Amino acid sequence: MTKPLVAVLSGAGISTDSGIPDYRGPDGLWRRDPEAEKLVTYEYYMADSEIRRRSWRMRREHRTLEARPNAAHVAVADLEKSGVPVRVITQNVDGLHQLGGMPARKVLELHGSARSVVCTGCDVRSPMEDALARVEAGEGDPACAECGGILKSATVMFGERLDPVVLGEALAVSKACTVFIAVGSSLQVQPAAGLVGVASDHGARLIIVNAEPTPYDEIADEVVREPIGTALPRILGRLRGQEA
Ligand code: ZN
Repeated sequence: MTKPLVAVLSGAGISTDSGIPDYRGPDGLWRRDPEAEKLVTYEYYMADSEIRRRSWRMRREHRTLEARPNAAHVAVADLEKSGVPVRVITQNVDGLHQLGGMPARKVLELHGSARSVVCTGCDVRSPMEDALARVEAGEGDPACAECGGILKSATVMFGERLDPVVLGEALAVSKACTVFIAVGSSLQVQPAAGLVGVASDHGARLIIVNAEPTPYDEIADEVVREPIGTALPRILGRLRGQEA
């Protein structure tokens, strides 16, 4: 029997148990506070060093790097370790799937990663930790050590395009998977939401785990409202049982 390919699309809801608020969602900080949104909007960020200084300070204060994976992240990694092919497509930038044990090459980060910074001049990447250490040491707006260019978080800011390679892979996984689990996402942000429809159109079994209703509940094979921390380990455990 061919093993099922399980695709897990995760949104902010999978990381709230790890203490990371939903900044990007419809009610998230970025949408409620236009000044805060500027800090993560490419055009403003590139044009104004004061915006960059505030952006670095905000990143230092939010301590995203200190967040630890929770039971849901670990359950996804455990399924992969059990021999079931798993691919994660995530809207999150926190890197918690990888810290939870998922191999990095099997995690598609649609919105990039807050654990790295990238130079807007020469594209070189370096750890966010190092940039924040420079901010801590007094550099308000640390420049690229290689070329002096403007550094930014390796996340997709408002006004930036998603990485077409990552997006293409996410689309391929959505078409190929036999089970598609959307977890902790309101499924209102494109293109992530559209992937649900693609998976369903290609015959995947669709499971939605989210506290609130989503636009795709009607086409789902299963809709689960219970907390992700208990629901996801149970659902994935069941998939493991089927496979064995
Ligand atoms: Zn550079």
